[in-house]
Amino acid sequence: MVADKAADSTKENNIKMDVLRSTQTVVKNALDKLGYPEEVFELLKEPIRMMTVRIPVRMDDGSIKIFTGYRAQHNDAVGPTKGGVRFHPDVTEKEVKALSVWMSLKAGIVDLPYGGGKGGIICDPREMSFRELEGLSRGYVRAISQIVGPTKDIPAPDVFTNSQIMAWMMDEYSRIDEFNSPGFITGKPIVLGGSHGRESATAKGVTIAINEAAKKKGINVKGARVVVQGFGNAGSFLSKFLHDAGAKVVGISDAYGALHDPEGLDIDYLLDRRDSFGTVTKLFNNTISNKELLELDCDILVPAAVENQITEENAHNIKASIVVEAANGPTTMEATKILTERGILLVPDVLASAGGVTVSYFEWVQNNQGYYWSEEEIEEKLNEKMVKAFDTIYHTAQTRRIDMRLAAYMVGVRKMAEASRFRGWV
Ligand code: GLU
Repeated sequence: MVADKAADSTKENNIKMDVLRSTQTVVKNALDKLGYPEEVFELLKEPIRMMTVRIPVRMDDGSIKIFTGYRAQHNDAVGPTKGGVRFHPDVTEKEVKALSVWMSLKAGIVDLPYGGGKGGIICDPREMSFRELEGLSRGYVRAISQIVGPTKDIPAPDVFTNSQIMAWMMDEYSRIDEFNSPGFITGKPIVLGGSHGRESATAKGVTIAINEAAKKKGINVKGARVVVQGFGNAGSFLSKFLHDAGAKVVGISDAYGALHDPEGLDIDYLLDRRDSFGTVTKLFNNTISNKELLELDCDILVPAAVENQITEENAHNIKASIVVEAANGPTTMEATKILTERGILLVPDVLASAGGVTVSYFEWVQNNQGYYWSEEEIEEKLNEKMVKAFDTIYHTAQTRRIDMRLAAYMVGVRKMAEASRFRGWV
């Protein structure tokens, strides 16, 4: 047997510890502002349930590799928990916990009858075959089957997971459950009960957030210069939507580097050449670094990649007047403060990226009722939820004179805190 060698590097682990800690700090500030006592924070600062699993997978060379996976369920006072499963070599327990808290906040912000959940497996899908990925996906579902289900905890795609992986997971759960259970997971292929518009939903939600923010700042999206960090699910669809809306996408990036053209990049060509993991810059010689990308001259900056990209080191150099977080946790707490003080409108992750889980909710509702909506109906419903959430949070930030992140946390945490109290938990 070959042991799983993917150990967290100390640096990576420290960063992820900070992610959980800073999330807890903002949750605490939000609860304090709402007037909730200490025990509410004590309950909400960590997931109510956290499962660690070891998943044996027979690899193509005949060996057996053991992978480590997690499923965190933050709080189920409002309803079943909900959130994606991430396949990435840097996944850590702390990160999965923080991500589950964020899912609760997103559900609260767009008013879904869910609490937050999140899963992750330490693996590198870029180096695994289709068959190995299927074994891992099915093994993960077997390992967590007791705590998940259509009325308990509903997984979905996240970083490096897609509709094929959701299909395998749904099939495995349906075998265990002995029922066809489409409502067990969202982000499925359409033929298996997936929803129209789910694949591009995160990017659609971000686009709506950008439009609303641009109105507040008096910027016309048509002709605006935009930089998008990351060319995965969110970044690639978003670049396309913005490009089609007449914005000039002057910079994009992947994990290996970034491309810049002040006249606007040829987005259709780049979409055509990207691989399924969002890699495209390797095809070019004239790349710049991700660090340089973030500091480019532009009107709107969208970090759509990973955590901790805008920090106190580069926050002073950001040129954009609007920063919209399509990734989870791309801006540190210190950087949030600096950007806000500089008058930059920061649309936080828990609001900007809530489109994915919103359409996941629509998918689950359609599965439960067995009646399916058109793409136009989904878009209309998504638009309604996102615009309302943006307005509520913007208004809260303005009237309370607080930054948009704290305002979003206040809106996001309220229902869950109230539900936990009504249930008599705290
Ligand atoms: N993984 C996505 C997120 O972080 C979507 C979760 C879902 O659809 O449940 O919001």
